[in-house]
Parts: sequence; structure tokens; C-alpha cells
Amino acid sequence: MEYEVLTYGNKLLRRKASPVEEVTDDIRALVQDMLKTMYDSDGLGLAAAQVGRPEAICVIDIPPMRDEETGAPKRENPDVRMPLVLVNPRIIERDGEQVGSEGCLSFPGIFVSVKRAETVTVSFLDMENESRTVRARGLLARAILHELDHLHGVLLVDRMSPVQKVAVAGKLKRLRKQRK
Ligand SMILES: [Zn+2]
Repeated sequence: MEYEVLTYGNKLLRRKASPVEEVTDDIRALVQDMLKTMYDSDGLGLAAAQVGRPEAICVIDIPPMRDEETGAPKRENPDVRMPLVLVNPRIIERDGEQVGSEGCLSFPGIFVSVKRAETVTVSFLDMENESRTVRARGLLARAILHELDHLHGVLLVDRMSPVQKVAVAGKLKRLRKQRK
């Protein structure tokens, strides 16, 4: 099944996620539904909170970039298989700094420049209930940090500067009014 993505103003987006005790068939089914919802919404990532679920789960799929000279697909994180499914993710290490444009399925039509760590190492449970770690850089690191924010009830709007907030105030107000 496919979920409806909750948008800014829905209180469920502010709920802190609960850890998953064990990755069961029910959890795997939820992950499949989250992936379908993410792909159908053209998102790069989705957290369980965005579909109203309390589990500490997020899914991410960063498409390959194109090599500027050859046009061939090129992955920034060739060791990381997509989609990346993180259950109970925890940041072990973060390093460096990057500033880049960021959007969110819960804030349709809004893109703002956000500062994030350049690299991040995260521990998590995989679909076989095994403990693993992943190290990511660039856009994937940004996506992981964005999705982890969701699991703590932290939203894109919380990462905006006062000036950025003023710039999108009208759009935010509209989202709150028509919230799903
Ligand atoms: Zn988001």
C-alpha cells in the first residue's frame, strides 16, 4: 500500500520515533510501503513519521549523478547500496561541513540552503535484524542527517535562519492551512 505523506502543520511530524525492537515481517512490509510512497512522490528520502508511523525507520535512495565529462552515471558513495533502509539509526561520527539546497516531502515547493556535516557515520539495523554501520558523504550524508532529524521530530523549518523563514512565510502559512 501507499501512504499519504503528512505535511507541515501535522502534529505527528513532531512526535519522537520509538525504537524498533526487532525487524520482523511487519517491519519489512512497512519498509516496502515507505519505499513505494517515496518513489511515487519523487523523494530522495522518507521517515516513518512522515506517514504517521512511530517507528524509528527511514528510507533513502539517491540516484547516481552524471559525470560532467562523459555523462556516465557516477555514485558519490559507491560502497553504499541503494535504497538505504535505516532502522534505529544512530550517529556515531560526523565531520566537516557542507552547505546545499534541501527540500522535504512534508514541505512541498520549499527549498532552502542548509548547513550539514560533509561526512557522517551511522549505526543501524538492516532488514535481517543485523547491526551495521554506513559511512556517507555529500548528498547522501545530507539526506541521512535530514531523515534522522525527522526521527527526533525536527523539521526543515527548524533548520532555517530567521531570514529564510521570512522568505517562505507565505508558503509555510499555506501548508499549515491545508495540512494533511
Ligand atoms: Zn523531510
